Amino acid sequence: MTTDLLYHEIFTKHVMSPSHPESPERLLSAMKHIQETGLLEESKVNVVEGMPANLDLIYSIHAKQYIDMVKSKSESGGGYFTLDTAVNKYTYDAAMMAAGAGTLAMDRIMDGTSNNAYVLCRPPGHHAEYDRALGFCFINNVAVAAKHLIQQHGAQRVLIVDYDAHHGNGTQNAFYTINKVLYIGLHQDGRTLFPGSGFPDEIGSGEGEGYNVNLAMYPGAGDRSYDIAFSEIVEKISESYRPEFVLVSCGFDGHFSDPLTVLGLTTSGMAMMNSRLNSMAKNLCGGKLAFFLEGGYDLDIVGKCSRNIIEELSGTEVTSYSDTHDESENCTQYTRELIDRLRRSLSGIHF
Ligand SMILES: [Zn+2]
Repeated sequence: MTTDLLYHEIFTKHVMSPSHPESPERLLSAMKHIQETGLLEESKVNVVEGMPANLDLIYSIHAKQYIDMVKSKSESGGGYFTLDTAVNKYTYDAAMMAAGAGTLAMDRIMDGTSNNAYVLCRPPGHHAEYDRALGFCFINNVAVAAKHLIQQHGAQRVLIVDYDAHHGNGTQNAFYTINKVLYIGLHQDGRTLFPGSGFPDEIGSGEGEGYNVNLAMYPGAGDRSYDIAFSEIVEKISESYRPEFVLVSCGFDGHFSDPLTVLGLTTSGMAMMNSRLNSMAKNLCGGKLAFFLEGGYDLDIVGKCSRNIIEELSGTEVTSYSDTHDESENCTQYTRELIDRLRRSLSGIHF
């Protein structure tokens, strides 16, 4: 049983502006907490640096003209894409290396070198659109990995579960009209949070109809709501889909202490999801599972949750922390109604 931790120093060199919440310190906190497990010395976890992604693969997810713009802005020393999404001279190389780390993780799992992986990278990816940087993201790492599984490994069914607090608009849009990728997003309702999308009626179109699932969670929703959502939607749909590989966009900004969102998850709620995703992967596709870091802006929580992911993937006892948070009955009731609505709109496809 071996787990890969994809990590490269260049991921910490991309900086958008001083005191920006999506900071290199996020990865440093994650590495510090992971190192404290001792798993890196025991060789149960391999640190793998990766290499830049293949450009033809990148162009299957993003417009060449847009990627050229990221490169030229980086080469010129920096520049803005949106008010809160900017490059410095390292951003292009870091983004290419992050996407390449993801594809290498796929190759190593598919050829049996390792069992599973955590791609601990920056910049994150799930908001990056075909021709647009958005929400601290430039290249959609998880979408590139899914495309690589389809193109290079002949995958017919790739499941992406995105539990970052923000909707993964870029990932949804990359695969909205096909059924080779099933996207399930659990995020704070878009009426109350960036990017303002990810509603339950966005279920995919054409042959992709029914292969895009959005659980738009009520502000304040926490461990109880996510537990029900996993039982009633995530696990049931996954069993019906029978994925060949499970990819997870993990963001820890659903934690109640996160400065950017108002969800109510705890570290044990995140660990519960990780454990159930691992069980799903083991039951459905021989354990083929990779986590990709997206958001999460409380540095201590990013560290603890990253440690928990590595523990879960490597089959080590998962450290439990003492943070607790109550969820109101309103939230739980709203989640049940949302689930009923989703099950009705997806009936005949997954139910
Ligand atoms: Zn997020």
